[in-house]
Amino acid sequence: MQVVKTIEELRSIVKWWRGEGHSVGLVPTMGYLHEGHKSLIVKAVSENDRVVVSDFVNPTQFGVNEDLDSYPRDIDRDAALCEEAGADVIFHPEPEEMYAFGNCTFVDMDHLTKGLCGKTRPTHFRGVCTVVSKLFNIVTPDRAYFGEKDAQQLAVIRRMVRDMNFNLTIVGCPIVREEDGLAMSSRNTYLNPAERKAALILHKSLTMGQEMIEAGEKDVQKIKNAIVKQIKTERLARIDYVELVDTETLEPVKTITGSILTAIAVYIGKTRLIDNFTVKDQGE
Ligand code: AMP
Repeated sequence: MQVVKTIEELRSIVKWWRGEGHSVGLVPTMGYLHEGHKSLIVKAVSENDRVVVSDFVNPTQFGVNEDLDSYPRDIDRDAALCEEAGADVIFHPEPEEMYAFGNCTFVDMDHLTKGLCGKTRPTHFRGVCTVVSKLFNIVTPDRAYFGEKDAQQLAVIRRMVRDMNFNLTIVGCPIVREEDGLAMSSRNTYLNPAERKAALILHKSLTMGQEMIEAGEKDVQKIKNAIVKQIKTERLARIDYVELVDTETLEPVKTITGSILTAIAVYIGKTRLIDNFTVKDQGE
């Protein structure tokens, strides 16, 4: 497996692969890889002849007071994990490589990026859409892999691919959790032992919400209230949002019909964590 730092080198590798008739998969990440990322890479390896994992802490998706500087980084560990998972290239550019001096072009999206995480992170998805577009243009993959952990991101990327006519397939991959249910995240490393314990409230409250839906509850307000109440039992938790939305439009819903995403964002101490589940109502 190769660590590649420049766009030019990556393009020439992909060109060589294409000449050999190989299909190409892309797994975009911000590094500090864990089993959640690994599941995406393993799936990409199983479905493509060659796989590129991008490992880039993208500055444009962080707000001014967010954790860009403190975001964990460990390229050696990441390279070992990618190699083990069967990736062919890890693309690890410097910010100046991805954003040449004077870069002033961005990819922005209305509607889908305004609610949920977009409310507290108003410039986040502009950064995500921009960097993912750049990666699609650099790698020209057949398939790109994204986790359902970031459900809004997945919906946004699917929409961007449709709206901008990118010629590739987006593959969504299930959330990988720690044994006790906490969704794996590079940001979990910020949690101290008491916060790590408190963080279980995300999964616990969502499980309860899911059980209510599975038991036939259709009233979204009731489900929302129950989740909020449950999260509030945890002293270290502060709710950013609890929302039930249509999985495709991300518009809030009032009753459980069709495909519904229940998404939450909760601060545990200073760390903002997200989690979600999706239910598909088959109708009466
Ligand atoms: P990140 O490095 O956090 O930007 O994540 C890179 C990709 O890995 C995104 O598509 C995430 O949704 C996905 N991912 C992160 N954590 C998990 C997880 N616990 N389970 C599944 N996918 C994940």
